[in-house]
Amino acid sequence: MNYVVAVRELCAFTAKQGDLDLRFSPAPTALEGITGHQVVQARRTAGYEAEISLNGEYRNSCGDLGRNLLVRGRADGYDPAKQQLEEIKTFRGDLSLMPENHRFLHWAQLKVYGYLLCEQRNLENVNLALVYFDVGTQKETVIVERHTKSGLQAFFEEHCLRFLAWAEQELAHRQQRDKELAALPFPYPEFRAGQRQLAEAVYKSAGSGRSLLAQAPTGIGKSAGTLFPMLKACAHKKLDKIFFLTAKTPGRQVALDALATITRGQDSSLRVLELVARDKACEHPDKACHGQSCPLAQGFYDRLPQARADALSAAGDRESIRAIALHHGICPYYLSQEMARWADVVVADYNYYFDGSALLFALTLENDWQVGVLVDEAHNLVARARDMYSATLSQTQLQSIRATAPPELKKEYDRLHRAWNELNRLQDKPYAAYDEVPAKFDGALRKMISAMTEYFAENPAFSSQPMQTLYFDALHFSRLADSFGEHSIVDLSKSEPDRVAASSTLCIRNVIPAPHLAERFDKAACMALFSATLSPWHYYSDTLGLTNPLWIDVDSPFQPHQLRVRIARDISTRYRDRGASAPRIVELMIKQYIERPGNYLAFFSSFDYLEQIHELMAAAQADIPLWRQSAKMNESEKAAFLSSFRPAGKGIGFAVLGGAFGEGIDLPGDRLIGAFIATLGLPQINPVNQEMMRQMDKVLGHGYDYIYHYPGLQKVVQAAGRVIRTRNDEGTVHLMDDRFARPDVRGLLPQWWSL
Ligand code: SF4
Repeated sequence: MNYVVAVRELCAFTAKQGDLDLRFSPAPTALEGITGHQVVQARRTAGYEAEISLNGEYRNSCGDLGRNLLVRGRADGYDPAKQQLEEIKTFRGDLSLMPENHRFLHWAQLKVYGYLLCEQRNLENVNLALVYFDVGTQKETVIVERHTKSGLQAFFEEHCLRFLAWAEQELAHRQQRDKELAALPFPYPEFRAGQRQLAEAVYKSAGSGRSLLAQAPTGIGKSAGTLFPMLKACAHKKLDKIFFLTAKTPGRQVALDALATITRGQDSSLRVLELVARDKACEHPDKACHGQSCPLAQGFYDRLPQARADALSAAGDRESIRAIALHHGICPYYLSQEMARWADVVVADYNYYFDGSALLFALTLENDWQVGVLVDEAHNLVARARDMYSATLSQTQLQSIRATAPPELKKEYDRLHRAWNELNRLQDKPYAAYDEVPAKFDGALRKMISAMTEYFAENPAFSSQPMQTLYFDALHFSRLADSFGEHSIVDLSKSEPDRVAASSTLCIRNVIPAPHLAERFDKAACMALFSATLSPWHYYSDTLGLTNPLWIDVDSPFQPHQLRVRIARDISTRYRDRGASAPRIVELMIKQYIERPGNYLAFFSSFDYLEQIHELMAAAQADIPLWRQSAKMNESEKAAFLSSFRPAGKGIGFAVLGGAFGEGIDLPGDRLIGAFIATLGLPQINPVNQEMMRQMDKVLGHGYDYIYHYPGLQKVVQAAGRVIRTRNDEGTVHLMDDRFARPDVRGLLPQWWSL
């Protein structure tokens, strides 16, 4: 069995040295890079061969397993008349500022191509030319070296040999891993109720390649129930990697724990990696990511091989990677990014696969990996994906930056400001949505981006965080403008509607993430999305863009008698009725508490409403301990709120539905014995939501249901789900609104509830 490697990958592994250098520099975009290559190639004379495929084999004479290395790639161009092979690199700004290790890497790639060319065309000598093309000035800097085939061969063999040792280890690991996974037993004597159903569906999905939407209740062991069959699929369906993606941080630990349980007692070589956000993993938040600023970026690539080798056999969680990185004096965050290439299971936030510049998705494409993707708490994906593919620009931000901007940029800032004011002038109401990104604004924005790009390239020492933020916001906005379509709306919100020059915000707001996510679903070998609340499934499949998914609603392990659900038909929490309903809500809560004292959670639609009921409750002097959520709680305040729910304790915690305590918290047993839900959970009716509803109606239909009704009920079911966490739990849920009795609403509540 041979190992196949691309020239780029080979050199990235063997020829990277020196510092990590991620200094801010306006690198050419992908499109500018492609165009730059085409410009250079078009300048060459007749007979010039562009994009030539090259491949060759390194015959292994000393590897234990006797494997060869197949190296392949595509060189940018060859001029037979000059016997000159060219590698084109696009850049912007001052070439002399390009770090030395970047050039070293470029030469390494070109030398490998050079050897493959000599071998393929039987040449004894060749000119190697590095062509640096400035996308701003369109000028070329060409550096030529003459090389002999024998010299290039020695270079090629040295790098192949270094890589082959690693490749052999990787192949051996893969064979061993698959053997272990094929024989892996389920970690418990038996599956829990519903867990087998879920596991079988995941395995079936992995075999068929069809995406799976699985509604599976809390308490059945979803993490083990999805990871176990996916691990089996690695062995039997030849998956390269598993990505376990979570919406929130605690979900990562649950997955890591499940993996530890699955492999406990086994002789397991499975490599697990947790990816953590940069701001959580960075050891020097006050520094920049390059060797002159951060000590952990200095000599990063020189020390990476040893750290990488150590990390392969480590646990892969955040603390283990950190310990290894610090032991070798390199950055933990960038070590974990490197390890994503070599891990078998990566546990990470949704961003790492679904975002526009997601690392795991990019690696999947680059390496043609077969990946099995597990999306935990998938009901969050619609909102999270909308955020990823939306962008907002603020006129206030532009104005404040203009005040201190270099003179070279003021002209373009002013042009954009004028275009913005023009929009303000034409809009006589505080909020309006448009069918397309306003052309004049779009043009002015692109001119500003290009002026900023040039300025940053020509002034590499210049540093301004607000300007960089504006630059990245503007780039994000203009990229989304490029892909704008009926999946999104663009809207302008004015802070002071009557003033023409008032400050406003312009937003590209994604409504239907499906078109943005399509390639991400398509490139996964299999994808299972699961959550306790995925009803109705067509809402998720339509908005996320799943084609013909498998759907299962896993049987609940809970019995109807465990959860008494009561609908208060005499209460209306509609905005106009809230004042009148408040005393009745308080009365019902006190009655329930007296009947069965214990810990309760009460959910409301807003902080205002929460405060109103809290005040009434306190005034009722019912001798019930009360504690309440406040806006913008920090982590320790949230922990204090939860710690009030002591085992066998008594009291009522007040929270906002859809907030920090509406899902993802676990209060088993008598830490929580009931919930009051005084809202239907409907998102606020406001101009933005109304516009999103109209757009949804136009494109997919079901506007009201998809924007208001389903997301609202999903929050209600999540909140009620806090009450029954284990098979021994019992509790009561009061649904406090007459609309809960409507058939269309009841139809969205879990089947096993006794209503
Ligand atoms: S420690 Fe922080 S500043 Fe240093 S390289 Fe890592 S992420 Fe960058």
